[in-house]
Amino acid sequence: MVIRDARFICSNTQVALCPEPALPEYAFIGRSNVGKSSLINMLTGRSGLAKTSSLPGKTQLINHFLINEQWYLVDLPGYGYARVSKESRANWAKMIRAYLEKRTNLSCVFVLIDSRLPPQAVDLEFITMLGEMSVPFVLVFTKADKQSGSRTAQNVRTFLEKMRETWDELPRHFVTSAVGRDGREEVLGFIDEVNQQ
Ligand code: GDP
Repeated sequence: MVIRDARFICSNTQVALCPEPALPEYAFIGRSNVGKSSLINMLTGRSGLAKTSSLPGKTQLINHFLINEQWYLVDLPGYGYARVSKESRANWAKMIRAYLEKRTNLSCVFVLIDSRLPPQAVDLEFITMLGEMSVPFVLVFTKADKQSGSRTAQNVRTFLEKMRETWDELPRHFVTSAVGRDGREEVLGFIDEVNQQ
């Protein structure tokens, strides 16, 4: 996919205020600092589109970007930041659940996983929630340039093996690096594929 146009549309805290659900939508989410903003900027080829290294725990917003006038890319607030208050965590959960439940044009959620780490409970919990809500999702392993390819492959295998304990069918997954621009064609090709279904 060639990204001809990528522009910010709106940020809000309520699914009711999101743009008309007239186009397919792809949402990106993960633990804070997983590399979500960097990945979005790498995919769209717009370095300042998503704000990188924003302070975790700041206002949690659903950010809509319109790509090629054809689909929405949604930057969802991250989870798993230790220094977030109970209240803020509860607000996050409420907002995300409402978004996942009510966003009728949601084609797929990209769950970002740090490729350097062993399986993290917060990621597995979030994936379990997606399963319970029957939301389609794929996994995106980030920061693959930070270690050898074999190490990344091992960590991906370990994560998928952990999922296999509870899932009959494993999701599709992509290995990416915002620095090396790895996985860009694969992720955008997947979006193309789903858009054409
Ligand atoms: P977010 O909080 O999930 O949006 O994460 P950011 O995109 O702000 O990235 C968090 C940190 O990881 C920043 O210092 C980025 O420069 C770094 N980072 C993100 N993606 C990559 C990557 O693919 N490779 C490397 N080496 N660093 C990355």
